[in-house]
Amino acid sequence: MKERIGFIGLGAMGKPMALCLVKAGYPVTVTWHRNRAPAEELEKTGAKIVPDVISVAAASDVVITILPADPEILEVYRGGLLDGLKKGGTCIEMTSALPSTVKIVEQEALSKGIGLLDAPVSGGVARAVEGSLTIMVGGSKELFDQCHPILQAMGKTIFYTGEVGNGKSVKMINQLLNAGNTLIASEAVYLARRMGLDLELMCKVINESSGGSWIFANNVPKSIIPENFKPGFRLDLMKKDMDLSLEYARQEGIVLPVMDLVSEIYQAMINQGHGGEYYTIVSQWIKQQNRREWQPCTMS
Ligand code: NDP
Repeated sequence: MKERIGFIGLGAMGKPMALCLVKAGYPVTVTWHRNRAPAEELEKTGAKIVPDVISVAAASDVVITILPADPEILEVYRGGLLDGLKKGGTCIEMTSALPSTVKIVEQEALSKGIGLLDAPVSGGVARAVEGSLTIMVGGSKELFDQCHPILQAMGKTIFYTGEVGNGKSVKMINQLLNAGNTLIASEAVYLARRMGLDLELMCKVINESSGGSWIFANNVPKSIIPENFKPGFRLDLMKKDMDLSLEYARQEGIVLPVMDLVSEIYQAMINQGHGGEYYTIVSQWIKQQNRREWQPCTMS
């Protein structure tokens, strides 16, 4: 018998992830927060809708959460999830958030006889739709092994990272690199453009050289060079992820001078009203500093 899954947080990531579970044959129960539409769409595919978080938990063996950030995790876990789930139940917390928050929630869960895995994701909406996310999991190895088939329905590469909190920590490091790489790649593209280089050729060379990266192979040709900022991972969520690293560093007395500067630049773009746009729009900040217009070029 497949576990009964509850799914809370049916946003850009959560809705396709929940759909993957339905397609994999799990009985899935959902609820809505402000917007009913995603829950109703999932109902049409076979999920069951109930009126609130506590009812989701009561109908489930395993409850998955993927919420905006730390305050929403605490709100959901303390506002019904841990009361509704029976002893022996499991929570899989997949939000990008602080390790300290998920450790607090783990303690509260354990005090009620509920197990918890910390399992943030990387890969964006397209890979959530395909069920091919990277998932970084912290928690007991036994619980990890038990939940592996559930994680496999949503992800292709699943890493066990050790104790609860380590998943969130690895995700924080990934986002620090992603945010900083995207900005320095934008600066490199700007310079290459002003040098009059063939940008497609430049990308090919860099991706076979020591300056290459996932960002250079993906964000640069698909978004930064063609100036295509179609909806995707939002700039304000990326800023939130950077703030997690900066907050952790502040608490631990660690200095991250490069990240401080990167974070200020993302904040400047939020101040200009770009928080809801694809985070690669941050590349336009470099252009603004140089005040130069051109026709966007297409990449094959
Ligand atoms: P969204 O803002 O699209 O979705 C958040 C969801 O949480 C919405 O369905 C929202 O419902 C729901 N929600 C908010 N507050 C509550 C609450 N108090 N109780 C119940 N439900 C609530 O975010 P994403 O799906 O984009 O991101 C989710 C997490 O995944 C974030 O931590 C993000 O950093 C991370 N992530 C996102 C990626 C992406 O490409 N988008 C990639 C990798 C990780 P409603 O809208 O009705 O309020």
